[in-house]
Amino acid sequence: MGCRVVLLGLPGAGKGTQAERLAKALGVPHVASGDLFREHLNKNTELGQRARAYIDRGDLVPDEITIGMVAERLARPDCADGFVLDGFPRTVAQAEALERVLDRMGTRLNIVPLIQVSEEVALARLSGRWTCRKCGAVYHTLFNPPKQPGVCDVCGGELYQRSDETPEAHRRRLEVYREQTAPLVDYYRRAGLLVEINGEQSIEDVQADLWAAVRAACGVG
Ligand code: ADP
Ligand code: AMP
Repeated sequence: MGCRVVLLGLPGAGKGTQAERLAKALGVPHVASGDLFREHLNKNTELGQRARAYIDRGDLVPDEITIGMVAERLARPDCADGFVLDGFPRTVAQAEALERVLDRMGTRLNIVPLIQVSEEVALARLSGRWTCRKCGAVYHTLFNPPKQPGVCDVCGGELYQRSDETPEAHRRRLEVYREQTAPLVDYYRRAGLLVEINGEQSIEDVQADLWAAVRAACGVG
């Protein structure tokens, strides 16, 4: 049966933070398209070289690059019993492609939680975000600081600020969400999958609301 979740929300809403915890609770992989891209950037692969300029500007990487990369990840055996998708889909074309991939696997999504925050809150969260170079865990200088500055609580790795953490890229990412990703809210509402979660609460309270919604949709816990 399994549990297949897509997390929607503005950049900075807390998708990565929650996806990590939810995936652990469900025992399924956390698949983040942004993390997949950052692996390609680190390894300087051909895909990474094609994607870099888009990412650094805060633009979307074209669908023809993104869809294949995520489809390949979802086809791996560890996703057979479910996954938590974070950052994908971001366009209607990507959502349609995801539906085709799941059709071929003989399965479908269970739930699409929308983590709702205002653009002001999203910007404040993005501007203090630090990311672990080794395991990808995210922190915030004010809202979710690591125990020791610059060091990951989870794995001891070094914390850094992503190359797309600039005020210009932040503004561009919010604009891109409005133009290209926001239509997915109606897309998934019409499919009967959308559940709205108040993202302007503590990380623990968002986690509790999210877990209750996912448990009901997937019949787990
Ligand atoms: P997204 O994946 O949606 O872009 P992240 O999970 O990376 O968002 O979170 C963005 C920033 O906000 C991070 O620095 C994270 O530590 C912080 N954050 C996440 N959830 C909350 C919350 N509920 N309250 C305050 N800060 C949060
Ligand atoms: P994220 O880690 O989700 O904030 O993503 C970082 C950047 O990677 C985005 O600003 C985009 O440039 C790119 N990216 C991630 N996911 C997608 C996607 N589904 N479609 C297009 N570009 C993406």
